[in-house]
Amino acid sequence: MCTECIKVRGNYFHMSIKCYILSPHGFCSGVKRAVSMAEQVCKLYGGFYIIEDVIHNRMFMNDLWKCGVIKVASIDEIPDGAVVMFSSHGVAPRVIAKAEEKGLTIIDGTCPVIKAVQCDAIKETSLGKTLIIIGDRAHAEVVALIGCADKSSNVFVVSNETEVELLPDFNGIAVTYFTQTTLDWAHVQTIIERLKEKIPHVKSLSPDNVCRATRERQDVVRKVAGTMDLVVVIGSAHSSNARRLHEIALSSGAGNAILVDSKNEFDSSVLDCVETMAITSSASTSEAVIQEFIEYLTATFGVVTEDFSLSNDDDG
Ligand code: SF4
Repeated sequence: MCTECIKVRGNYFHMSIKCYILSPHGFCSGVKRAVSMAEQVCKLYGGFYIIEDVIHNRMFMNDLWKCGVIKVASIDEIPDGAVVMFSSHGVAPRVIAKAEEKGLTIIDGTCPVIKAVQCDAIKETSLGKTLIIIGDRAHAEVVALIGCADKSSNVFVVSNETEVELLPDFNGIAVTYFTQTTLDWAHVQTIIERLKEKIPHVKSLSPDNVCRATRERQDVVRKVAGTMDLVVVIGSAHSSNARRLHEIALSSGAGNAILVDSKNEFDSSVLDCVETMAITSSASTSEAVIQEFIEYLTATFGVVTEDFSLSNDDDG
């Protein structure tokens, strides 16, 4: 506790907490598109089937359950002729083929950025190339990308430099790498460097596939975290890009960093003696949730807010 701290509800809060609202925030374009499709389909059909959460946002998904959306483990469980929506992370081509076979009405919420990566992967595999995917093999986006390979023996997934070491040398085999769109792009660069050292003939169709919405959020957190006592990431724990922002805040020197879904999960004791804080959010967190959180901080703790983006930062 410092001399400027006051006691409120058993905790000590700094009298004037400065809170930077980091931009960009709110839904990215891919999430916005999937959310709007899901809402329209709910109005039209009153419910539909999914095999993966439409977006990684717990509160939005709760609204969908209320609307009658049903989640199943595989496309085989969906009754013939029903409506299915694919998530923003996409699905493998064989899942789409199966849905067509069953006569399902398909609502494809796949983000166009991810669709473009999938198209490239399909093109490369059709040319007989082996795919290396840098990403989390359990993540829906990566599962779908693995499914773009013509056969499972032609695709390898790595998530770090150690796993790169374990790859074969691919002598005489053409190899193309792809990356998940929501990784920490700085870490991705080190994995790619190691990959190129190990397999000098590895090719790519773009330097990496980390999308702009992800990269911009990470860049601003990396820039300011070291000067913050606290960074709050608003997002769901199962959102890959929310978890990356949390990790980046901590590794970039924030005094503390927390990941919360909304103001309802916020434990205000983390504000103890905080003078400067920043709020960022995942690409699947709605603007309404962010604004509600900011209003709560302002009204309850007298937090003084200021918008911050790299474009209004003099140091660039
Ligand atoms: S983070 Fe990027 S790739 Fe993922 S849904 Fe949003 S725009 Fe698409």
